[in-house]
Amino acid sequence: MKFDLHCHTTASDGALEPRALLQLALERNISHIAITDHDTIAAYDQLEVPPGITVIPGVEFSSQWCRRGIHIVGLNFDPASAAIRQGVARHRKARRERAEKIASRLAKAGVPNPFEGAIAQAGGDHNLGRPHFARHMVACGFVGDESEAFKRYLGNGKVGDIRECWAGPEEVVAWIRAAGGTAVLAHPEKYQLTRTRLTALLTAFRQWGGEGLEVVSGRQLPRVTADLAHWCNRYELRASWGSDFHRPGQPWSDLGNYSTPPANLSTVWQGWFEGC
Ligand code: AMP
Ligand code: FE
Ligand code: FE
Ligand code: ZN
Repeated sequence: MKFDLHCHTTASDGALEPRALLQLALERNISHIAITDHDTIAAYDQLEVPPGITVIPGVEFSSQWCRRGIHIVGLNFDPASAAIRQGVARHRKARRERAEKIASRLAKAGVPNPFEGAIAQAGGDHNLGRPHFARHMVACGFVGDESEAFKRYLGNGKVGDIRECWAGPEEVVAWIRAAGGTAVLAHPEKYQLTRTRLTALLTAFRQWGGEGLEVVSGRQLPRVTADLAHWCNRYELRASWGSDFHRPGQPWSDLGNYSTPPANLSTVWQGWFEGC
């Protein structure tokens, strides 16, 4: 069995349609996949699942903790539940309002037509995120590449980094649990937390009802995997892992090609299916 429990499609900021993502997953011998688009489960609408792969309901909720953006992955919930539907609807509205604010700040910084540009990059205004603004800024020559757009305008603490709009993490975990799912703290190493802060977050996450920790997110240093395995044991969390795949051509987050997960950890999917 091979699991990839973190990846994106065109329903958020990924490049592949859900159907193409599942085809690629089959080519990569993935047996179980969760599509975890940012704040949406639209990829699951009328999704035709080809034989040979199990699709587990997933979502990656944006949130904020101690003035830092954090991501909470929800897995194996009931997509029809009111709790998840309301959570997603709340964030859809928040994302729309946030996009307008980001656009107005970028316009002040001199970016031409940021709102229309981001919509064009996203192929519609259904789920605008910072990567769509970054792509527009590259397309109109305002910056050289997406990484520069994040470094100067969209990344942590820059003008386009707006995160007050999201539901708090306690509420997000409650949505996932009310829908019968498992809440997983996504890629903790990306939050640049001190050890003290990370332990505070993990303690709080357990108290809110969080049950999982992403111990592998794409390609990462062995030291990071070892640290996260340690925190997983220490806080009695279950391990989850995935690629955080967005598009082909990014070897550090390529579908199914994540670093080797640590052995001997209990995993989020234990008890989800018969026989594992
Ligand atoms: P948003 O959902 O609007 O907060 O955007 C978050 C997404 O932006 C992440 O999931 C990544 O796909 C992307 N992202 C974050 N930081 C960077 C970066 N430094 N360079 C490129 N993409 C980034
Ligand atoms: Fe993303
Ligand atoms: Fe994320
Ligand atoms: Zn992600």
